[in-house]
Amino acid sequence: MEETTLKIKQKYSRNYVAGYPLLMEETIANPEVLTTEGEPLEIVMEDGTFIGKGYYGAQNKGLGWILTHKKTDQINGQLFEKKLTVALGRRSFLFEDESTTAFRIVNGEGDGLGGLIIDYYDGYYLLQWYSAGIYTFKDIIVSWIMQNTDAKGIYEKKRFSSEGHYVADEDFVTGERAEFPLLVKENDVIFATYLNDGAMTGVFLDQREVRKTLRDKYAEGKTVLNTFSYTGAFSIFAALGGAASTTSIDVANRSREKTEEQFKLNDIDPDKNKIIVDDVFSYYKRAAKLGESYDIVILDPPSFARTKKRIFRAAKDYSALLKETIPITNKGGTIIASTNHAGLSQKKFRTFIEQAFEETGDKYKIQESFSLPKDFRTHPSFPDGDYLKVYFIQKLT
Ligand code: SAH
Repeated sequence: MEETTLKIKQKYSRNYVAGYPLLMEETIANPEVLTTEGEPLEIVMEDGTFIGKGYYGAQNKGLGWILTHKKTDQINGQLFEKKLTVALGRRSFLFEDESTTAFRIVNGEGDGLGGLIIDYYDGYYLLQWYSAGIYTFKDIIVSWIMQNTDAKGIYEKKRFSSEGHYVADEDFVTGERAEFPLLVKENDVIFATYLNDGAMTGVFLDQREVRKTLRDKYAEGKTVLNTFSYTGAFSIFAALGGAASTTSIDVANRSREKTEEQFKLNDIDPDKNKIIVDDVFSYYKRAAKLGESYDIVILDPPSFARTKKRIFRAAKDYSALLKETIPITNKGGTIIASTNHAGLSQKKFRTFIEQAFEETGDKYKIQESFSLPKDFRTHPSFPDGDYLKVYFIQKLT
């Protein structure tokens, strides 16, 4: 397909010359040229300065991505193949690590492939498409993977409805069908995953280092409360690290069965590891009345959640969540506070922590912090992609 010339308004020159990869709607001087999702673009400034090449693909974040800054590149199979080869090479340390069989292979713009995410689940490749535009390159990408990797089979998730949400569809693409649950390992811990069951697979791969740290350095002998626990991934690592007990709490009914499944697979004693299906905020009220408290409390809420009783927005309410967590955390204990909300900056998150402790009158110390692991590679000019922020906070008094 012939390249369309897309012009960036001159006033945005600094960002784009510096390598900003996303085509933001408001920066485009001639949006009327964008007619067909997937069309290849040559991106220039209004004064003609060459910026790069990319494709048109509307997603919640913008109208497409710049994939290369080389004038001699074409947006074609060769370019995708080159990017995929480099991306796989960057993960060789994980392919070689037998204790971990699930990780990210392509992290969108971080690997120069904005709009596409590929995760590895023990021989099965899960492709996530974020626009109809990137989806037009499906055949190239799928056949390259089948021919050049160890892929047994490929699954996909389309995330390009107008809202950028998951579109329910048949998720199997090609190769062998996996048997579900598909058992994968992370630092020798087993996870049951499902690549064909809605938007989520059973595990969030970006928390690998946090889970390992919890197991190896913090859990031994401790009582652990895991809030917003989903399938209980943090509880499993805590239990295997020798926690005295874990309590997993999630409002979704499915969480009980999913968490029990994970416990069973890892031979975790159900008597010492409780599962509660409830709203975290209602549970906190009960816990406060009963005088319950824990050595370690894990907070990993979604960016936005609406339950019958309350709306939680991380960008606004995280400080309040922390404030309610501090009283049920033992002195000397640790709150593991995590957010994956790109709209909540590192700095603001730190302010939230400070505020919460100021309001309860307790002292704290940051023991360690985490951001995305290496396989979730980020783009230096795209800070929004660097979304994960995790703090281990010790309550001192
Ligand atoms: N911490 C999890 C991932 C959390 S996903 C992990 O490491 O795997 C977010 C979870 O929060 C979902 O399972 C959702 O059901 C749950 N949730 C949302 N609002 C909630 C609330 N008010 N109380 C309890 N759980 C909630």
